[in-house]
Amino acid sequence: MRATMMDYPLTLTHYLERAGTLLSDREIATRLPGRSIHRYRYGDCHRRARRLASALAKAGLGRGEAVGTMMWNNYPHLEAYFGIPCAGGVVHTLNFRLHPNDIAYIANHAGDRFVIVDDVLLPLFEKVRPEIAPERVFVAALSGEPVPQGYESYEDLLATGDADDDLPALDEGDACGVCYTSGTTGQPKGVVYSHRAMVLHTMAMCMAEPFGLSQRDTVMPVVPMFHANAWGLPYGAVAAGARIVLPGPHLDPASLLDLCEAERVTFAAGVPTIWNGILQALDAEPGRWSLHPALRTAVGGSAASEAMIRGFDRHGVRTIHAWGMTEMTPLGSAAVLKPSMDALDEDTRYAYRARQGRAMPFVDMRLVNDAGVVPWDGETMGEVQVRGPWIAGAYHDSGELGDKWTEDGWLRTGDVATIDDEGFMKITDRTKDLIKSGGEWISSVDLENALMGHPAVSEAAVIAVPHAKWDERPLAVVVLKEGEHTDGDALRDHLAGGFAKWWLPDDYVFVDEIPRTSTGKFLKSALRARYEDRLLPR
Ligand code: AMP
Repeated sequence: MRATMMDYPLTLTHYLERAGTLLSDREIATRLPGRSIHRYRYGDCHRRARRLASALAKAGLGRGEAVGTMMWNNYPHLEAYFGIPCAGGVVHTLNFRLHPNDIAYIANHAGDRFVIVDDVLLPLFEKVRPEIAPERVFVAALSGEPVPQGYESYEDLLATGDADDDLPALDEGDACGVCYTSGTTGQPKGVVYSHRAMVLHTMAMCMAEPFGLSQRDTVMPVVPMFHANAWGLPYGAVAAGARIVLPGPHLDPASLLDLCEAERVTFAAGVPTIWNGILQALDAEPGRWSLHPALRTAVGGSAASEAMIRGFDRHGVRTIHAWGMTEMTPLGSAAVLKPSMDALDEDTRYAYRARQGRAMPFVDMRLVNDAGVVPWDGETMGEVQVRGPWIAGAYHDSGELGDKWTEDGWLRTGDVATIDDEGFMKITDRTKDLIKSGGEWISSVDLENALMGHPAVSEAAVIAVPHAKWDERPLAVVVLKEGEHTDGDALRDHLAGGFAKWWLPDDYVFVDEIPRTSTGKFLKSALRARYEDRLLPR
């Protein structure tokens, strides 16, 4: 017997059209550069995204051609998230925190024909423009200033489009977006998402677990829309019919908390750096903000420490720890407890919540080390390898697949982890950040989490430093909370109870800040270079 279902493509066009019909009264609020709030409804967004699609088609955008966006999280960016792919184009979110040379490289590599830029980002764009020469540049003037000479206005572009034009019939395998990986070595690599991958990722993300997005939610993506599709949240929120709050350029803790409070946000997402700052603000002024009682946050991009998860619980905010990568659209796993775990003691439950969790549906996961595929025993470490319908099988125009994919077709994530018999993954390191002391691996992530549990410590990165006898030894680089004091001996005592002696860092350096990648992760390669000659005293 053969299936008798229609062959109906999974495309973002469906979500856009649904937003305009069944969900048209849902609100989208954007905080503008001047801090006032712009409000409109899904119905308005739908009409404008359709006009954008029509205008781009009239401007000659061909199927599969890229349009760059250099924008904060705001409503024109949301329009671009739908209007470009629904015109058959590819939305290329440019990470404007990269070096101008890298931005130029990726814009050229993706062949961005047009670029849409926020007016407040024009000074940055000016540094890139001579190297990329896009055919046309459209400026979204959200700051209230007129569009400067030499640029076209985004609103004028929209005026050339007709919301009632037919949208092209797309294939679910068509490209809808491209993001470049924020790898710290080699040239950035393009990951090209298909409509099908994005639709399936959206549906899986919205399920009751992990994120459970619904019409009753107010969703605020703090994670930038240029970082791995803001984890798919703009699509997830629209698919669920949630209210959407877009924070624009003001991302300091107080500004975000003010917005969360005023807009009654129930779901927010971002990297641990952002949440760490927010937690410190909440701790410093308890009672200043009255947040929605149902507020939950998705934290990922790098490890959320147990101390942070506990800290947010004290303020009534529930953290959902998720793991993923640009190559995975990006969601791969989340630490959602099983019902049987309700019976565990509190410490064990927190330990589970601080892990990277169980694979999402449709994400196949395995661990591999030199001995082959390793058992899920919670102890044996191996590299995490994944495959599935929203996982990249190649990079854009990069010729050789290199060693990023195994011969049997799994993506090598570069993350080293254990998985226990409950299926909970716990990342111990990046392959390139591993510390190998006397032939044994030490997990920098475990040490960092424990250090960040010390009351005086704001952030900690543990790196490998060359050592004559042991090859490598751990060094802890620590940022203290404002007004706090401690020293290496105290931190060593703090760690001593929880780790084997040979795991303990040989030294502690105190710094004002830890260098970061453009997406907010610790830039450990810079730390290793800085401290490679450090004489380890112990
Ligand atoms: P990117 O593609 O820039 O988002 O980087 C993906 C990488 O970030 C992953 O391969 C992990 O090394 C790291 N990462 C993402 N989420 C987590 C997490 N929850 N815990 C630890 N590392 C993470």
